[in-house]
Amino acid sequence: MHLDTVDQVRVGDPPLDYLPRIGCKGIIAIHNTTLGPALGGTRFWNYATDAEAIEDSLRLARGMTYKSALAGLNLGGGKSVIIGDPNTRDREMIFRAHGRAVESLAGRYITAEDVGTSPADMDFVHMETDHVVGLMGRSGDPSPVTAYGVYMGMKAAALHKYGDDSLAGKHVTVQGVGHVGYFLCELLAQEGAQLTVSDISKEKTAVVKKEFGATVVPAKKIYEVKADIFAPCALGAVINDDTLKVLKVGIIVGGANNQLAEPRHAKAVEKKKILYGPDYLVNAGGLINVYAEIEGWPAERSHRKAGEIYNTLLRILELAAVEKITTAEAADKVAEQRMDEVRYLHRTELGCLDYNTCG
Ligand code: NAD
Repeated sequence: MHLDTVDQVRVGDPPLDYLPRIGCKGIIAIHNTTLGPALGGTRFWNYATDAEAIEDSLRLARGMTYKSALAGLNLGGGKSVIIGDPNTRDREMIFRAHGRAVESLAGRYITAEDVGTSPADMDFVHMETDHVVGLMGRSGDPSPVTAYGVYMGMKAAALHKYGDDSLAGKHVTVQGVGHVGYFLCELLAQEGAQLTVSDISKEKTAVVKKEFGATVVPAKKIYEVKADIFAPCALGAVINDDTLKVLKVGIIVGGANNQLAEPRHAKAVEKKKILYGPDYLVNAGGLINVYAEIEGWPAERSHRKAGEIYNTLLRILELAAVEKITTAEAADKVAEQRMDEVRYLHRTELGCLDYNTCG
């Protein structure tokens, strides 16, 4: 079922599966399967209303369609949400029931972990279906691949903005030095960038100070540091009316999801002459890593695929400049163009040489 708005679903319709014995409701949203099976994690969350959960699943599924398309993967977009207490200890039957629902879609949807779920939950899903990735002992920590994609996105942005993709001597501020932030700092330090970092964890900032010579500032001060590049690697919605008043950077490229507080901030960033590399393109390394698990790719191949973010971002930046649109709008256009082109390829029939008449 393809659904774009919450109005198309009524509670009790087939996509909202209610399991009275388990006490949870679940939704599987499939947004688009043009490029391949819809892939997207399972979010376990105490939504206030069913409508809110449906809205979230549709929004997240759409996001996955665009992310996969831009990353050059043969995947569509989907997402599941389970409505309930994510801290419950009785997990087996919830996730086995979810696995059965996933199995009923016969491979059109592949799930993985997300907010509120863990690889152990995915093991329960796996008892009922093979259409699940991110299992323990398989593709492993995606963060190094994600960080590499962010780093390549930064280099492309630097080439577009400063005429040179070298980050040597560039001042980069990194918000959050957890999994992605740490590996990003490592790559930047290897290239000779100057680092200023923040994190609410003093232990984590101490490590990057010691290992990469980073300057540490208090969490709230990171937005005020004048720098060439700002890399949000902690929270969403950090590009907002308040931060835009104080940000003094040329480029924003980072690993965090949903960096723009609202879509209108894509335009607001541009007005400040800041180049914004759309987050769902530059942080696609994590998705590439799970795709590698499906395809059985070796690590070098995932790394190479994440490196393609460089050329994709350059293409988006050029399109945005030519068409005078925001980089976020240009990213959507490039993703839609790829889906259209692949849809056309699928319709080409063997033995038909007249492209005007062969649908
Ligand atoms: P993480 O939890 O390992 O790291 C996040 C870090 O941010 C932590 O060290 C935390 O202490 C810090 N932090 C929290 N609040 C902060 C604040 N106010 N100021 C500064 N630091 C703060 O998570 P991660 O895996 O590194 O992911 C980081 C971001 O990237 C998240 O938004 C995540 O959704 C996104 N992302 C991650 C991956 C991946 O491969 N891990 C892939 C795609 C997107």
